[in-house]
Amino acid sequence: MAPPAVKYTQIFINNEFVDSVSGKKFATVNPTTGKKTAEVQEGDKADINKAIKAAQDAFKLGSPWRRMDATGRAALMNKLANLIERDVEYLRDLEIMDNGMTVQLATGSVMGCISFLRYGAGYADKLHGKTIPLDGDYFCYSRYEPVGVVGAIIPWNFPCLLMGAKLTCCLTVGNCVVVKPAEQTPLTALHIASLVKEAGFPPGVINIVPGYGPTAGAGLTESMDVDMVTFTGSTEVGRIIQRAGADSNLKKVHLELGGKSPNVVFADCDMDYAVETSHIGIFNHSGQICCAGTRTFVHEDIYDEFVKKSKARALKRKVGDPTCEGTEGGPQIDQEQLDKVLELIESGKSEGATLQCGGKRLGTEGFFVESTVFSDVQDHMRIAKEEIFGPVQQILKFKTVEEVTERANKTTYGLAGAVFTKDINKALTVANTIRAGLIWVNNYGMFSPMIPFGGYKMSGVGREGGEDGFKEYCEIKTVVIKVPEKNT
Ligand code: ADP
Repeated sequence: MAPPAVKYTQIFINNEFVDSVSGKKFATVNPTTGKKTAEVQEGDKADINKAIKAAQDAFKLGSPWRRMDATGRAALMNKLANLIERDVEYLRDLEIMDNGMTVQLATGSVMGCISFLRYGAGYADKLHGKTIPLDGDYFCYSRYEPVGVVGAIIPWNFPCLLMGAKLTCCLTVGNCVVVKPAEQTPLTALHIASLVKEAGFPPGVINIVPGYGPTAGAGLTESMDVDMVTFTGSTEVGRIIQRAGADSNLKKVHLELGGKSPNVVFADCDMDYAVETSHIGIFNHSGQICCAGTRTFVHEDIYDEFVKKSKARALKRKVGDPTCEGTEGGPQIDQEQLDKVLELIESGKSEGATLQCGGKRLGTEGFFVESTVFSDVQDHMRIAKEEIFGPVQQILKFKTVEEVTERANKTTYGLAGAVFTKDINKALTVANTIRAGLIWVNNYGMFSPMIPFGGYKMSGVGREGGEDGFKEYCEIKTVVIKVPEKNT
């Protein structure tokens, strides 16, 4: 398949495409080939400040955006969703070229962006406050108000989907936003910028500034004029962002971070289904999913058979050119991730886990890793503790429900988890005991804009998605009105 022509490479501020203040550009690379695909204007603090100013102006009282009813916002969001749908194939191909994800995943990423926008459009006029039966002669009500200017920092693993999620949360409740796409994957965001203009959003409501984290990203997190930052990415960077919020204006910070999710498989499960679903739960997107089921705990009675079948499945996995029909897994995003995954695989071998299959780089072009399965994994090993973000399955053995829930929770992360069993009691015990934001029972990875998603512990702060997700992007105002003495 011929790579798509890149149309937009400039910074988007106030509905205009502009060059960076510094005149600098950076290259995007196709992870499938390792070759350069485009040169994008590199936003820096100066560009971020211009974008913040545009967003502040768009948020001013009396501005077209602030005067717009929720119904009007919803109409614009639906229009944007329709335009993205019109360009779905082009956006899909850009996403594949930028990120290396398969056709199926890239379609899902773009369709997910559309679903988020439509879900938010349906919710925009349903953001109800409360009336509060306050003691005394008062009438009291609360209302949800937009926080103001939101800085949205996007990771590279699902660029379109995650920008869609953050844009939706911002727009549904009436915020203005400055988006900083990941430096590896800015292209779909910039095409969507052109659609923002075409849809007719007022200038400054949505601004998109590509650039690097420590410069452009930090420009948002350290700003005194940004009211909230929403970030999806690594726990390490999440910590920097929360600190930057504290050191500047104590802005609201929403963080969706890393994970090391447990996937508990009991002996009474449907074995072939559990093997297949656990395989997808870790190998999907070459393991580059924050809620991947990277610790597969399997009951001792079925352990050997489960390992055998998981190895056979991994050996069958088709890894290669993501544009080809039938390819199940593409490359890692870049050289740095490739090196990190290979280093962790080496640590698994040297710490005594049994390498069932894989373990090496695949080919010499692009950033591919063989589908890798480790058995006899112990809780103390690095591969059982650290987020690998690669196609590497760890299979651990357990005996009892009490033991496995305790071990599943022995992690600094708490993003997701799963359990496979036909016994409702076991399912509920595990679901209720694991300290994580999303638990799947007899499935792995079901997502929807309707689901509040986010982490316990060091997997994050706050939720995105569902009604709770929208409220995260609001301030709650309470109004107390003195009324005449009660006579009823
Ligand atoms: P990953 O580990 O998944 O590559 P990162 O957490 O490094 O992800 O990056 C996710 C996003 O955070 C990217 O858009 C990146 O540019 C941005 N980022 C990285 N470092 C910083 C920082 N110091 N401040 C703000 N944003 C950052």
